[in-house]
Amino acid sequence: MLRPKDIKAYSIELPKLKSGKNEFDFLLDERFLKLFEKPLMKIGKVAVAAEVFKNLNHLDVKFKFEGFLQLECDRCGVEYEYPINVEHRIIYAYRGVGTTEEEETEVEGTEVIYISRDEHLLDLTQELYDYVCLEIPIRKVPEDCNDNCPRYVSLFKEGNTSLNESDTDPRWEALRRMKSDNSEN
Ligand SMILES: [Zn+2]
Repeated sequence: MLRPKDIKAYSIELPKLKSGKNEFDFLLDERFLKLFEKPLMKIGKVAVAAEVFKNLNHLDVKFKFEGFLQLECDRCGVEYEYPINVEHRIIYAYRGVGTTEEEETEVEGTEVIYISRDEHLLDLTQELYDYVCLEIPIRKVPEDCNDNCPRYVSLFKEGNTSLNESDTDPRWEALRRMKSDNSEN
């Protein structure tokens, strides 16, 4: 599914790393989401600054995510931008010769992923995606919708009669009932 070109866009070429600090920038947008069959969200635009510190036996990588996700209100479906600004750190440790370390572990709260010294490309696609998914809030309601979703309220106030009759969403049903109760009084 992934073409080599796509993988390369979110990868680091290990032989090109100099010891010490290296910096990379990645942009997560629609193109990035296309790499996933069923993405969990619409991505707005998220810039990732990665600082890769190359040591003898491991790479210490700090990611800084800044941008926004394009989410939909749980109640009325209106789209809104949800800002994210978060940092993460992963240590990519070189597997020792003949050792049997776990593929992934955690050291003092920092994720450690073991990689082979023969690895040419360090593909970050999955890690970047997972970190963005972690930012999706459980309750997706924008500030404008906090008390009442304006979209519903305005439909109600205007006495809009064009509510789709085939819409069986119980929330629409409740609105319709309220409207007919009012007109009977
Ligand atoms: Zn809403």
